[in-house]
Amino acid sequence: MKIPRSISKLIDSFQGLPGIGPKSAQRLTFHLLRIPQDQIERFANALTGLKQGTIICGVCKNVGEEEICAVCSDNLRDHAKIIVVANPMDAFAIEKTGYNGIYHVLHGLIDPLNGIGPEELFIDDLIQRIGNYLKENDDLLEVILATNTSMEGESTAMYISNLIKKNNFKLTLSRIARGLPVGGDIEYADEVTLSRALEGRVEF
Ligand SMILES: [Zn+2]
Repeated sequence: MKIPRSISKLIDSFQGLPGIGPKSAQRLTFHLLRIPQDQIERFANALTGLKQGTIICGVCKNVGEEEICAVCSDNLRDHAKIIVVANPMDAFAIEKTGYNGIYHVLHGLIDPLNGIGPEELFIDDLIQRIGNYLKENDDLLEVILATNTSMEGESTAMYISNLIKKNNFKLTLSRIARGLPVGGDIEYADEVTLSRALEGRVEF
């Protein structure tokens, strides 16, 4: 007996996603097979519309709907405070704490075991962005490293910190720490914990 091609193709597609193994890929595929056609079509439309409806902001690299996102173009926000996060979901979580600065989204963490080096991330863009800011502004810039406390999060923070030192940038560099459990995910932290972690940031 052979698995129909349309099924194996979808299983393969699911398996290409992070955190989805062969078993989950099969489970999702067979689940979709059982749900009504109109629901499948909504799902498919959401999927194809994902890239068409979103743009990566030219400044902070967060996902938005304009070339320059709503946060970056908001003059009421503190542009002398840049918080560096791994993923858009982390930025959305921090936004809920009432944070008034701006963001820089790396789109991942340095993870050599999974083939992710610094050049795969928006790290060079961050360094360039800081350099440009310092050239054009006299205000003291604060860069807050808000990557997870996992090994990948720590080594990414360390890598960025070293680059900032190497460039002799005059700024305040801090790292959120207190309140976040070791190995904890920013994305899943509650607002109170995240607010405390932000307030308790330490010089890095
Ligand atoms: Zn932006």
